[in-house]
Amino acid sequence: MAELLFKVIIIGDPTVGKTSFVQRYVNDSYRRDYKMTIGVDFALKVIKWSDNRTIKLQLWDIAGQERFTSMTRVYYKDAHACIVMFDVSQRATFQSAVKWKKDLDTKCSLLDGSPVPCLLIANKCDLSHREVEQEEVEEVCREHEFVGWTETSVKEGLMIDECMRFLIEEMVNKHAEIDGLSESFTARRGDGIRLNPDSQKSTASGRCSC
Ligand code: GDP
Ligand code: MG
Repeated sequence: MAELLFKVIIIGDPTVGKTSFVQRYVNDSYRRDYKMTIGVDFALKVIKWSDNRTIKLQLWDIAGQERFTSMTRVYYKDAHACIVMFDVSQRATFQSAVKWKKDLDTKCSLLDGSPVPCLLIANKCDLSHREVEQEEVEEVCREHEFVGWTETSVKEGLMIDECMRFLIEEMVNKHAEIDGLSESFTARRGDGIRLNPDSQKSTASGRCSC
């Protein structure tokens, strides 16, 4: 059985929910208390994608403080895809999302020079207090070349699997293009992701050159 290994990095300001997202996705668990990430945490998830294909996802949960260090270059290296997360109830984290995206794009790209596919995630949509409107997210998604965006609630388990399915699909398609595989991987599209209509479908390999 063929096996693919992908590296996905998760970035964004402290407390937006990155660690919770990974825990929810990998272990289906959620903690209310906050435990700060130091440096980077790793998690591995193995997915049976189709009858003859297994996907291993290496998730790099990068501490928010790391944007101010030179270590991000090391963490970003060889990433196949990225999640940039912010908290809809804290506007400053939305503004930082753009800075995170720029940090990634200045330090890392796919082999053909195109940007690493990035999904913009507006987390904590369960909260009634909102400081960011959907129209603004839409605009940032388009302007800064994210492949798409969605709201999530890690607390309530909303849109988590769908996000990851979408990213996996992006990575698998790229891999298939490169290797000329005719096999179809379109089994389970990530429903509910608002695609960036301007986003170019790159033919680059999912490897990154930093
Ligand atoms: P990180 O610093 O980005 O890794 O953030 P954490 O995952 O550690 O989460 C920070 C805090 O936000 C924790 O207390 C979580 O329980 C809480 N949190 C995470 N996701 C959500 C969510 O979707 N809704 C709400 N209300 N709280 C959340
Ligand atoms: Mg964390």
